Amino acid sequence: MELSPEVQALRQEVRRFLENEVEPRSRQIDDEDRIPQELVQMARELGLFGLTIPEQYGGVDLDLLGKCALEEEFGRSNYGFATLIGNHTGISCSGIVELGTDAQRSKYLPRMATGQWVACFCLTEAQAGSDPSRMRTSAVKKGDQWILNGEKIYITNSPEAQVFTVMAVTDKTKGNRGISAFIVERDFPGLKVGPNEKKMGMHGAHTATVSLTECEVPEQNLLGEEGRGYMQALQALTRGRVTLAARCLGMMERIMELSVGYAKLREQGGKAIAEYQAIQWMLADMALWLDASRLLVYRAAEMLKRGERATKEVAMAKLFTTEALNKTADNAVQIHGGIGYMCEAQIERFYRDARITRIYEGTSEIQRIIIARSLLDVA
Ligand SMILES: Cc1cc2nc3c(=O)[nH]c(=O)nc-3n(C[C@H](O)[C@H](O)[C@H](O)COP(=O)(O)OP(=O)(O)OC[C@H]3O[C@@H](n4cnc5c(N)ncnc54)[C@H](O)[C@@H]3O)c2cc1C
Repeated sequence: MELSPEVQALRQEVRRFLENEVEPRSRQIDDEDRIPQELVQMARELGLFGLTIPEQYGGVDLDLLGKCALEEEFGRSNYGFATLIGNHTGISCSGIVELGTDAQRSKYLPRMATGQWVACFCLTEAQAGSDPSRMRTSAVKKGDQWILNGEKIYITNSPEAQVFTVMAVTDKTKGNRGISAFIVERDFPGLKVGPNEKKMGMHGAHTATVSLTECEVPEQNLLGEEGRGYMQALQALTRGRVTLAARCLGMMERIMELSVGYAKLREQGGKAIAEYQAIQWMLADMALWLDASRLLVYRAAEMLKRGERATKEVAMAKLFTTEALNKTADNAVQIHGGIGYMCEAQIERFYRDARITRIYEGTSEIQRIIIARSLLDVA
């Protein structure tokens, strides 16, 4: 994969920032489930909130390959921090970047690029997870406003967010084609964000319920075409899955480095455990899974960048990479023995953080369904 000199330089700068500023605070972020405000401020100054926003609105305008390269760097560091930035610059920004009217882009993107306004993506509901077409949140036109009612759950970044992309049913007789997307601001009457959920991992990135009760949204805040919201969400998720998989590559690489280092240092039975074939095989599997994942991720990213249909390839990249990451994290705990189970080592944090990647942005089972449907040529 060829990256421009500018993107390579940015990647190095981001790696230095993550190693020098984020990594030393990782334990604190995990323990407190909070990203220190000074880190958020540094991320703003580095332009990290604007990675995918066009330059004319103050962003860096990375393409999908550049975004994947940066996600790899974030994955090596702290998952909560990676999620705050990755979710904002990914599924939560992409709708306005790609489908926003000039007025919407001019109003929202400059403040999203600086991180003054954080964004979130609101699709999931209690009865509509893997099958979001079952959503019940409704949007009814009244005069020059849409009135939204419903509840979205597990919404990442919502406790911090100012800008909410909300999918809602505008015509329930039309199924998927009756769903539309709206830009909702935190201060619009009727929007309420619940308390931060306690989670297994991904600490520092916050997830909450978003309720809409007679929420008043100006008609000009319809995002994209009426009735196209479901397809728009799937498109955002397709790109989101590739960049999430790229983040997993960084996690796998870092976990492997830590495991190799530990295997060389730790002695048992009078020699380094790295000399035992049982340990070598676990390391070999990690290297194999990482390389295979990287090939799948960048194949999918390049296809999307060329504008090709890549539904199956994206699903393969998301499925294989997230499963490989979980097996890698499991091997790493095993190689580390008892210390791998202790919170003082980073490995147990990677192990907990890895687990979510097989669930959100489409579970592993849903990715298998997408691959099989593509083989069988069924919709
Ligand atoms: C930490 C976190 C952050 C999240 N962030 C966001 C966010 O920012 N925005 C947002 O909109 N959503 C978000 N989500 C929601 C996430 O995308 C859903 O949790 C996920 O899609 C799965 O939906 P579900 O939890 O309802 O599980 P379910 O759909 O109920 O699935 C339960 C099990 O059944 C399986 N299953 C379901 N359907 C089928 C089928 N047809 N065939 C075979 N197996 C099936 C699933 O694979 C899974 O194993 C987040 C979730 C979490 C946990």
